[in-house]
Amino acid sequence: MLETKSTCCYCGVGCGVIIESDGAQVIGVRGDPAHPANFGKLCSKGSNLHLTAQPLLQQQVRALYPEMRTARNQERQPVDWDVCLETLADKFADCIQTHGADSVGFYISGQLLTEDYYVFNKLAKGLIGTNNIDSNSRLCMSSAVAGYKQSLGADAPPCSYADIELSDLIFIAGSNTAYAHPILYRRIEQARENNPALKVIVVDPRRTDTARDADLHLAILPGTDVALFHGMLHLCLWEDLIDTQFIAEHTEGFAELKQTVRDFTPAFTAQICGIAEKDLVQAARWFGQSKAALSLYCQGLNQSSAGTAKNSALINLHLATGQIGKPGAGPFSLTGQPNAMGGREVGGMANLLSAHRDLSNSEHRAEVAALWNIPSVSDQPGKTAVELFEAVRTGEIKIIWIVCTNPAQSMPDQNLIRTALEKAELVIVQEAYHNTATVAYADVLLAASTWSEKSGTVTNSERRISRVRAAIPALGEARHDWQIATLFAQKLAKKLNKTKPDFTYDHPEAIWNEHRDSTAGRDLDITGLSYAWLEENGPQQWPFPTGATAGKNRLYQDRLFATTNGKARFINCSYAAPAEKITPRHPFALNTGRLRDQWHGMSRTGLVAQLYAHAPEPCIEMASQDMLRRFINDGDFVEVSNQRGTQILIAKASEQLKTGQSFIAMHWGEEFVSGSQANHALFGVNSLCNPRFDPISKQPELKHSTVKIAKVDLV
Ligand code: SF4
Repeated sequence: MLETKSTCCYCGVGCGVIIESDGAQVIGVRGDPAHPANFGKLCSKGSNLHLTAQPLLQQQVRALYPEMRTARNQERQPVDWDVCLETLADKFADCIQTHGADSVGFYISGQLLTEDYYVFNKLAKGLIGTNNIDSNSRLCMSSAVAGYKQSLGADAPPCSYADIELSDLIFIAGSNTAYAHPILYRRIEQARENNPALKVIVVDPRRTDTARDADLHLAILPGTDVALFHGMLHLCLWEDLIDTQFIAEHTEGFAELKQTVRDFTPAFTAQICGIAEKDLVQAARWFGQSKAALSLYCQGLNQSSAGTAKNSALINLHLATGQIGKPGAGPFSLTGQPNAMGGREVGGMANLLSAHRDLSNSEHRAEVAALWNIPSVSDQPGKTAVELFEAVRTGEIKIIWIVCTNPAQSMPDQNLIRTALEKAELVIVQEAYHNTATVAYADVLLAASTWSEKSGTVTNSERRISRVRAAIPALGEARHDWQIATLFAQKLAKKLNKTKPDFTYDHPEAIWNEHRDSTAGRDLDITGLSYAWLEENGPQQWPFPTGATAGKNRLYQDRLFATTNGKARFINCSYAAPAEKITPRHPFALNTGRLRDQWHGMSRTGLVAQLYAHAPEPCIEMASQDMLRRFINDGDFVEVSNQRGTQILIAKASEQLKTGQSFIAMHWGEEFVSGSQANHALFGVNSLCNPRFDPISKQPELKHSTVKIAKVDLV
């Protein structure tokens, strides 16, 4: 039996795994005891990874060779790789020469490896000359990126997982860590066992398993986080729990923010947030009095039309109390996907460039142009996720290339997305699995390799770069994502008569080296690292500049922030309620989120019977009082609807929800319908979700929409 060290492909915890194989088939998987993210532990998803790689199953669900169709009313047919990519290069060249570079777009994924991400970004921004390349990380992390950059000057989570053990207050906001980051949650549980003085506060409208275990649960009304953080800061000011020396020496903008938070008295804030005043006071005192307060936050803050403000308001609290840049303290955003961080590092989003450079910065554009040996990088802002598909719908973008993601299920307002995919002149889907809703729209399907078959790197939530290694060859004719992009780029360059930028990569290491060299002098400088170093010493955190012998586990210990003057900035953000208001017509707030044992659209976890034991079918959770008032029994079918869509689902009473709230797990789409025909979740929960997005981060408000719920008789 062969053993190959790699990384779990599911979430941003980034656990190390050891793949057991015979060189042709994956036989088993276990946690890597030497990996600092998990020390050998795996959650239910990670420990069942090998079951998704079973040969018989793989033959049924994998895209095994490229397929193409010449007309929408035809079935796709298998096609030779070379013919396929040559045809695509012809179509791209025609489109670009006729309609301009911005007539094409790419929608990529936080599931891609850093090397894949880098090549696609270079293909769009360097060769084609369009910034229309965005990632599904837009739905996941862009508010955290914007929050860090606004307040601290760089998109760099300042903490490490090891801070959990050094903290005396863990403040979890908008994260069901027990389900979404299970191994990290085990670490919190362990830390509490070892240190009974460690307190945990959870901010979440739902009483999730994470909230239930907390010392204090603040069940705020959906979307009122900014008011809560302002209210906590108000109390810290009132009770002299702020760090005046830190504020004076290392920050700016506090006077303006002070004026804003004056109004957020405990009584006023408690009323906005729908919580008891004493709980708010308790939370603020614990935060202000703790020696080391660590905030862990995720989609509850990010997936919001006020996502950037929520991030900034929480960081304000850390700055005001000096809870940053010291052991056990800091604002620590958790990444959802396994390589959302890697994508940010290589600039794989519409507004970013390589190595944390900004597209809107002319010096940064010139630096990247020089790195890629091209005359310039376009200064035209690229379309972000929702904008990208809206541009496809209107015909502004004619060709869309979707890589390793499933927007026909995961994007809000599915009608808009599906109309866009129908209207596009050409839809290319690069995927390992053909069981996703998006593949049904593909004119061209490019068969990609997947976990256990591909090699490269990923970066987890704590800035730790880990190797992903192939244990077995790619199935069928599937090719690696970076290979497909590289071969296509070489063909397109010829048709566009361009010799630059260079795409002569023959191994992911060559791509990674180019990415590494682009980080010289940047906040994420990794010029001291190499594949060989990672091989010998294991996963490492950035920055890791030339000459370093270890990465930095904690940022800003020197109190020097990444802003131009070295001072952190208080952001004077206003509180705004969620975009969609509760009305008599739509009286329920709809929240969405993860289940413990499923991942994204279930293309992989949906294949494992063991993972269904936790939740076998989709349902809508409601407060039992609401069900009683509407004569709905547990297990009844209900119609859930709003102006964007309708779903028929089973109603389930939940003690986790306050009255007026509802919850649907995000995983089910039309491909995973179970039971009777009536129980179908048409297009999944996102058919109901609001596409409104945050004005700065452009992240959509997937955590709050309004719906009506009515019992239906399906006899
Ligand atoms: Fe994989 Fe995340 Fe579970 Fe770790 S916590 S095993 S990375 S899914």
